[in-house]
Amino acid sequence: MSKTKYIFVTGGVTSSLGKGIISASLAKLLQARGYSVTIQKLDPYINVDPGTLNPYEHGECYVTEDGAETDLDLGHYERFINLHTTQNNNITTGKIYQKVIEKERRGDYLGKTVQVIPHITDEIKRDIKILGNKYNYDVVITEIGGTVGDIESLPYIEAVRQLKFELGPTNSVFIHLTLVPYLAASGELKTKPTQHSVKDLLENGIQPDVLVLRTEHNLNKEIRKKVALFCNVNLESVIQSIDVDTIYEVPLLMKEEKLDLTVLEKLNLPKNNDPKLETWRKFVNRIKNPKKTVNVALVGKYVELPDSYKSIMESLIHAGAVNECKVKITSFHSEKINEENVKAQLEGMDGVLVAPGFGQRGIEGKIIAAKYARENNIPYLGICLGMQCSVIEFARNVLNYKDADSSEMSRTTKHPVIDIMEEQKEVTDKGGTMRLGAYSCKLNKDSKVYLAYKTELITERHRHRYEFNNEYLEEFEKAGMKAVGFNPDANLVEIVEIPEHRWYIGVQFHPEYKSTVVNPHPLFVNFVKELLKDK
Ligand code: GLN
Repeated sequence: MSKTKYIFVTGGVTSSLGKGIISASLAKLLQARGYSVTIQKLDPYINVDPGTLNPYEHGECYVTEDGAETDLDLGHYERFINLHTTQNNNITTGKIYQKVIEKERRGDYLGKTVQVIPHITDEIKRDIKILGNKYNYDVVITEIGGTVGDIESLPYIEAVRQLKFELGPTNSVFIHLTLVPYLAASGELKTKPTQHSVKDLLENGIQPDVLVLRTEHNLNKEIRKKVALFCNVNLESVIQSIDVDTIYEVPLLMKEEKLDLTVLEKLNLPKNNDPKLETWRKFVNRIKNPKKTVNVALVGKYVELPDSYKSIMESLIHAGAVNECKVKITSFHSEKINEENVKAQLEGMDGVLVAPGFGQRGIEGKIIAAKYARENNIPYLGICLGMQCSVIEFARNVLNYKDADSSEMSRTTKHPVIDIMEEQKEVTDKGGTMRLGAYSCKLNKDSKVYLAYKTELITERHRHRYEFNNEYLEEFEKAGMKAVGFNPDANLVEIVEIPEHRWYIGVQFHPEYKSTVVNPHPLFVNFVKELLKDK
């Protein structure tokens, strides 16, 4: 098939309805019917990418293989459909304007007034079609961030309105997500917000084809009929999305609601074989019926917002499913951990995971947590800054360099055991300039990580500016912390391990970006397996 079909997903009434999960679930179902699918997110904010956003603002920044810093929804896409996304899968208003302004300066529009319509909207349309044109997907699902009616979303809504018209009938489908609130006092489910939200869309020239209604209670036929009648859609196009225990149940529910079939019919595509979701179902059952529980302490500084560590949390869920156990994650604010309370705080935790991060705030708590895990033989996984903290800790307390630090935290330390990378020294811009994306790493065969990966050459995604300072390597190794993974091209230390310790591993990269339902990440799987040994 050569002609790509497009699905646009919008949201109304409130944010956080789960557009990303619905998009990923639909993609999963279409993929299971034999279609090649990808998902794209359009973000209405003016940042060029979310890399410069504090996680408190927008949750985790997800990094793709090709080194794009993107919205966390791309993580859901990859976890559900087990395919890599690229920089083309996340478009922001900042990116669009940047391109248009560059073109204007170059003189591409010479003589013309540059305007939102058509210049911005044309650029948006081009970016939507790029995935279909470049990679020949059967279906591209484009999720539009924000809520219909927001000023920022307007150019996107206008662009897809035009696109739907240009693509012609049966080549695109419009899915709109809304909320059906339950009024406890009167015991009623209310459809008025949905009606209003569809009206907003109609005002912008868009008639949705399918409505997905987020609800806490089952919607009976009467309610569905009412929505269908008021919103000009047929009854089978009113889809219920009821709250569930785990997001991984959503594809199964969407299959029951026949979302995939409704969409295929509207796109005039053959239904093909019924999706085989046995493995997926098994995975969900394992999540819902764990045999044991292990406790993981997640030590970070953005813990108030669970979305800040989304991929780590999902990777632990995947690893739990493989090991048939529940991974209970308890978050600890690193700013609140000190030498006096660390034991009391981390008592009862089977394993410690120190999270990635930037800057000085909360760093000492992370270092203390790393020390606690090392000294008490508690399994430890340090990710990026978490690895750097374990190196600093080891230098301070084993090598006895009391002022050891990362040069990110202290410019004046005499012992910069973590130091800025050579190629980063001249960099002054903050956006998109770190060591980003996939790099290879060669593992030492005599290591715990090799036992986990079972292969010598791996590739993992990165997002950092600082690195292990090789000048100290010999001293570390002599004292018992070994570098067991190196980047073969640049000789950068990628992994440290303490062989004497039961399971103490620090990785400079981010394994969490690569764990999917189909391919749970070996490092997380192995970490959880180790924790289970005590149970
Ligand atoms: N701040 C550290 C660096 O830039 C670690 C980054 C991270 O944890 N992603 O190297």
